[in-house]
Amino acid sequence: QKQIVSDQIQVRWSSTETSLKNDISATDVRGYKGHDMLAPFTAGWHTTDLEPLVIQKSEGSYVYDVNGKKYLDALAGLWCTSLGGSEPRLVAAATKQLNELPFYHSFWNRSTKPSLDLAKELLDLFTANKMAKAFFTNSGSEANDTQVKLVWYYNNALGRPEKKKFIARTKSYHGSTLISASLSGLPALHQQFDLPAPFVLHTDCPHYWRFHQPGETEEEFSTRLANNLENLILKEGPETIAAFIAEPVMGAGGVIPPPATYFEKVQAVLKKYDILVIADEVICGFGRLGTMFGCDKYNIKPDLVSVAKALSSGYMPIGAVLVSPEVSDVIYSQSNKLVALETLKIYKERNIVEQVNRISPKFQEGLKVFSDSPIIGEIRGTGLLHGTEFTDNKSPNDPFPPEWGIGAYFGAQCEKHGVLVRVAGDNIMMSPPYILSLEEIDELIMKYGKALKDTENRVE
Ligand code: PLP
Repeated sequence: QKQIVSDQIQVRWSSTETSLKNDISATDVRGYKGHDMLAPFTAGWHTTDLEPLVIQKSEGSYVYDVNGKKYLDALAGLWCTSLGGSEPRLVAAATKQLNELPFYHSFWNRSTKPSLDLAKELLDLFTANKMAKAFFTNSGSEANDTQVKLVWYYNNALGRPEKKKFIARTKSYHGSTLISASLSGLPALHQQFDLPAPFVLHTDCPHYWRFHQPGETEEEFSTRLANNLENLILKEGPETIAAFIAEPVMGAGGVIPPPATYFEKVQAVLKKYDILVIADEVICGFGRLGTMFGCDKYNIKPDLVSVAKALSSGYMPIGAVLVSPEVSDVIYSQSNKLVALETLKIYKERNIVEQVNRISPKFQEGLKVFSDSPIIGEIRGTGLLHGTEFTDNKSPNDPFPPEWGIGAYFGAQCEKHGVLVRVAGDNIMMSPPYILSLEEIDELIMKYGKALKDTENRVE
């Protein structure tokens, strides 16, 4: 029987109240004990009592603490700095971008060139299964939260709102936010946080060495796990299971590569019940396993992929979700549908037809006044649609010479006065928004009148 030797070591990462506390040294050589910064999960609270290891500088594979002590950083930060801690090209790229455009967003169809280029690059790089779109996030945790949003949206779009549950695996790690910690299968991430969320189920950890039965081969172990997964799906109802999420090699759970034939068998079960496969490549991605992605190594054909960390070698907080064409197409069509549905809802709520009828007489009559203009052939329209046609002699048969550009000139004058209209030859068209106020109609008519005067002055 082995025994522990009591040694005055400092346990920085203790996340549980254990006897190890007795071993905590009271040293506080740098004066950071009792500091003010919290870290993820309860470890943050416990360890503020301890003197932290304060890292100041990195150089290649090494980091230095504030005392000048040098460490070989064997975890690359936290599975992050794949290119080491002092790659000058990354520093230069970041500096250039910070100088040029430190921030912009991607709401409302705005973007930036580096984001667009990166999306394309990522889709080209991931070849285990064809991917169609990339969605950027700030971390791996956020990428996994996004997975849940996208998958729920996808199933809502397909008219199967009950298909929402996620299956993850015991001992998996998917992140520190509420949803990604729920997906994770580590008790310390759940206890005291009321997690996992009820839509998350956990199936077996594929750790052959720890969990195989006597005499069971790796292949047999994989078969048993795939059967257990199938039984879980059948017990819950396949129509309620949306997705399965897995790290190709489990990382934070203890670095657990999959047993032989595991992903092959598991994927067959998932396919049978129309369950999406999500590969969490946050640790495995970008070459760590000797293949560009973990999916390449284990022949995983995911519908969605999470990446982060080595994506920027940890230099910038960035992650992404890659989305297959099948999922992306459904989401795309639903986006249009959702906007359309919301529009119809608003029309109903605001009694839009009544609104149009309330404002359109003023719009039509206000413009009709200009029918007397010597350069207007006809003014026509109904509701909130308007047409002006410029002709000579009030006749449809006397057009102005096209080279005079009467319509174009009128359009330009409108623009000068601050109104945008459609010009097609000597036809002018307007179809203003339904939300136009009576004051705005006055403004429109006044500006139309000014532009018309300008145009009349041009035709002697
Ligand atoms: N997924 C896996 C497999 C991870 O190992 C981690 C973090 O270690 C995450 C997701 C969360 O990523 P992040 O720390 O960028 O939020």
